[in-house]
Amino acid sequence: MARYTGAVCKMCRREGKKLFLKGDRCYTGKCAIERRSYAPGQHGQNRSKNSEYGLQLRAKQQARRYYGIQEGQFHKYFLMAERKAGVTGTNLLRICESRLDNVVYTLGWASSRAEARQLVTHGHYLVNGKKVDIPSYLLKAGDTVSIKAKSRDSVKIKAVLEANASRPVPEWLDLNAETLEAKVVALPEREQITTPVEEHLIVEFYSK
Ligand code: SF4
Repeated sequence: MARYTGAVCKMCRREGKKLFLKGDRCYTGKCAIERRSYAPGQHGQNRSKNSEYGLQLRAKQQARRYYGIQEGQFHKYFLMAERKAGVTGTNLLRICESRLDNVVYTLGWASSRAEARQLVTHGHYLVNGKKVDIPSYLLKAGDTVSIKAKSRDSVKIKAVLEANASRPVPEWLDLNAETLEAKVVALPEREQITTPVEEHLIVEFYSK
């Protein structure tokens, strides 16, 4: 399935919540949700209440859009989450959090997950000292991520680091801002994941 290339703010308006897909703009009054908090389209302001299935579908779509993951890949993550010990919904979010593009964004090395995906694809980051240019690469506890030495001099990377220097980094990642290296201390606990979604609804959606 092709990646969605339309106006990303429409996705937030459709879900009725901020999915933080546009970097800095999401934190300003220019955010489309702040200005028009109803669904897009002619009937956006008249949408009726969701059914149980509708709520489950919306929760799944919100999580997919938040992380920028396509349907097939997201369903695979759900199957992986089901096979792991523990709570399936939490496992699912943990898998999404452990993607390299998400970690790069969380470290403040990109302004949005979409930008993180692009920068990873361009080969700016190393995992355990080796170049990895696959945004969906899943990190494990103990892995280290760093910015390639040559990339540190790039105007783009310097600008991104400066713009996101004040972003708080969660405890499950140990960032050394001097050496631009970070270690995955452990995969996050549920309370350390801020994804605005009720994951039990996603589990119900796929369990039908
Ligand atoms: Fe969503 Fe960000 Fe657009 Fe606001 S600015 S609607 S949070 S993508």
